[in-house]
Amino acid sequence: MRGAFHRIFKLGLIGVALLACVWSLAATPVRAQQVKRVLLLNAYSHDLSWTADITRGVQEVMSGQGASVKLSVEFMDTKNYFSPEYLAMVEEQLRLKYGHIKLDAVITSDDNAINFALQNRARLFGNTPIIFCGVNNLDLPKRDDFKNITGVLESPDVGGSIEAAMRLQPGLKTIYLVMDSTTTGAMNKGLTQAVLPKYEDKVGFVWLENLSMSELKGKVSSLPPDSAVLLVTFNRDRLGQWFTFEECIAELSPVSNSPIYSMWDFYLGHGIVGGMLTSGRYQGVTAANMALEVMSGTPTGEVPVTIQKANRYMFDYAMLTRYGLYRDMLPEGSILINVPESLYDKYKYELWFVSGIIVLLSVAIIALLANIRARKKAEGELEELNKYQETLIEQRTEELTLRSRELELANYELKKLDSLKTAVLNTVSHDLRTPLTAVLGFCKIIDRDFKRFFLPLCHGADDLEGRGERIRGNLTIIEKEGERLTRLINDFLDLSKIESGSMGWNDQMLEPTTLFKDAIPVFQGYFTGSEVGLSVQVDDGLPRVLADPDRLLQVLNNLVGNAAKFTHAGKVSIEAVEANGCLQVTVADTGVGIPTEELEDIFEKFYQVAQSTSDTEICRGSGMGLAISKHIVEHYGGSIRADSTPERGSRFTFTLPPAAN
Ligand code: ADP
Repeated sequence: MRGAFHRIFKLGLIGVALLACVWSLAATPVRAQQVKRVLLLNAYSHDLSWTADITRGVQEVMSGQGASVKLSVEFMDTKNYFSPEYLAMVEEQLRLKYGHIKLDAVITSDDNAINFALQNRARLFGNTPIIFCGVNNLDLPKRDDFKNITGVLESPDVGGSIEAAMRLQPGLKTIYLVMDSTTTGAMNKGLTQAVLPKYEDKVGFVWLENLSMSELKGKVSSLPPDSAVLLVTFNRDRLGQWFTFEECIAELSPVSNSPIYSMWDFYLGHGIVGGMLTSGRYQGVTAANMALEVMSGTPTGEVPVTIQKANRYMFDYAMLTRYGLYRDMLPEGSILINVPESLYDKYKYELWFVSGIIVLLSVAIIALLANIRARKKAEGELEELNKYQETLIEQRTEELTLRSRELELANYELKKLDSLKTAVLNTVSHDLRTPLTAVLGFCKIIDRDFKRFFLPLCHGADDLEGRGERIRGNLTIIEKEGERLTRLINDFLDLSKIESGSMGWNDQMLEPTTLFKDAIPVFQGYFTGSEVGLSVQVDDGLPRVLADPDRLLQVLNNLVGNAAKFTHAGKVSIEAVEANGCLQVTVADTGVGIPTEELEDIFEKFYQVAQSTSDTEICRGSGMGLAISKHIVEHYGGSIRADSTPERGSRFTFTLPPAAN
């Protein structure tokens, strides 16, 4: 992730750089004549980190101006060379290099440079504005020749560093002040001496000066406990040997048994613990910004000289650790370098990523747990509901079983009663048939004898003759009703037998054609003396059927009898054909017809259509004929149905399956 971040950052920088290039290229022709020339004149060498830092600060600001400013940098190296001859040579060199150029601003760093610039100003820079920095001489602005000049004074905060040492080392007894005899050293000594009285009642001060490097090293390596070293300035030792700031601290730090403090940030990171440090880079940045302001047209007098307080509490974590000093004791707002990257810093993005995932997973787990809980609750509720329903079903089942048993019992009782009824009716019917036969027989004998022996005697006596005829009429009624009663009893017995399964079926292989041929005279008998005509059409080669001929004739008689009974005009037709391999017989009439809603019911036993039975002309039937016919047809695997149009006639059709070969 960090790699990706860096890549995006780099791409961003490249983009910005490209834009800057495009912008500057576009701007070049217009601004060619407006390029400002700036000279940075450093008093010291570029290998002096203080000077290097100032230069870096100036370059940072100027490079921000793109092509509109051209910066030239010179290093006078006056720490190493300071003779009048050398300075004259420097002056000559600068004159050769910049004499023909109109400079827009001259920036100087450190006291030697501003002093040199002012001394040679007329010949080198004319009235070009001068902006100084890193100048310790706070009285510089009081000079008579201080004209068209502004800049940054350097004011190291010695007191701040002493306080830092006292704070970090609570038992501190002595501070050893390291000092050389260079111009800067002498100046810094003055600054230091000025602040010491403020602290002398709390801590002792010992000057380490006029020493060779090895003598100094010997001293700092054997300081008594509760000591501290304040490195003020040490660039040239007693023997005249030159040391850069880094070389100096690199010599002292490894051997010093006490923490070393200072007032400049170029020592930081090379062996000092820290202190209230002055920053060369910031001096450079500030001076460069002032130069830009002046070059933009602001009169130098309106850009005030600043005593730069670019001092910050800065410390080296590695040195704190080395001398057992506590980080917690650092002054508030301190900058700390060399802090080992914490695990958090090192794996910040990974940590956030993993934490994010953990949070997401936790949320997911919580959601799942909540879901599981809700589901368990729902399952519990469902289980309870199931139990309740099961109990309910069990209860209902028990009730149903009870009812079913009761029904079975009732059914059993009913069946018993039914068979008892059938048995009783059978017996009664049988018993009725015998006396009825006798009644009918005697009726016939009485009629015959009465006609033969008594009626002739009444001849001549009108009164008696009339009575005699009435007696004969009554006998005929008794006979007819007796016959009807016999039919009724027969029908009833047949139906009972069929329903109880006790009917004897005398099955034979029947040729329908023969059966019809024999039955036609009987059918014609129904129409004797009637205006209704009978037509019979029996196809040849009808399928043979296996059935009791008497029962089949019973069906045909019933259908033809009904047709004759309910038809007063028109005709009745009997038709026997083969349909789908079956024997199909149709008896159609042009009689009174049957209401459509009653067509289904007429096959029920004892059912009679009210309209037809209300006709007093029609001989009343039993309401069992069609029920018996249906039973017979269905017994042989056939079916029977009725179609009718009221007032237009009826049509009864039954089919019987062919006998198997
Ligand atoms: P029934 O002995 O009364 O004729 P059926 O069972 O044979 O008894 O017939 C039942 C009833 O069906 C009859 O009473 C009659 O109302 C009606 N029915 C039967 N055949 C015909 C027909 N061809 N025309 C009109 N009505 C008929």
